[in-house]
Amino acid sequence: MALQSLRGRSAFSSSRAAPKAFARVQRTCRAASVVASATAVKAPSLPYRVGHGFDLHRLAEGYKLIIGGIDIPHTKGCEAHSDGDVLLHTVTDAILGALCLPDIGQLFPDTDPKWKGARSDIFLKEAVRLMHEKGYVLGNLDCTIIAQKPKLSPHKENIRNNVSAILGADPSVVNIKAKTHEKVDSLGEERSIGCHAVVMLIRKDIA
Ligand SMILES: [Zn+2]
Repeated sequence: MALQSLRGRSAFSSSRAAPKAFARVQRTCRAASVVASATAVKAPSLPYRVGHGFDLHRLAEGYKLIIGGIDIPHTKGCEAHSDGDVLLHTVTDAILGALCLPDIGQLFPDTDPKWKGARSDIFLKEAVRLMHEKGYVLGNLDCTIIAQKPKLSPHKENIRNNVSAILGADPSVVNIKAKTHEKVDSLGEERSIGCHAVVMLIRKDIA
């Protein structure tokens, strides 16, 4: 398709450099198609898979603040179609990312009324189910929650235990960190809460 449309362009047909440039495009396209078909044939069964997740929610009054499935006392909570659990959304996306699957927004669209007010452990449990279906177990998970307020250190252990339980993993491979955003930007001005996570999965036969 790309070559067809390029052939029709006057810039290629009128320029002296056109034959060379066109040949170069043809070579590139042929090479890309060879690489693509080779990749499709040789898709490796990786012993380890790494995934990254990121999420951010606006904070607003009138919402509960739920992080890692734990109710955190605060004056504001996360605006969202579901329960707005920024940590569980992040971890879900990290696992889906490691498996090279569509992201949380594609699997559970916020336009679907089915997910209105839904508990986010549903999303994470589905990611865990897919992880097992693909033949992997959790190696370790490292999360960083970014919130100016409230102070999360008193809740970190509860969050860690709950996330580990949802994952079916030992808490020793789940790390929950929390930091402020130095009062800078929406995160630091208490208008949002963000989270990053990195996960490593291990193929079951070598775990
Ligand atoms: Zn989210």
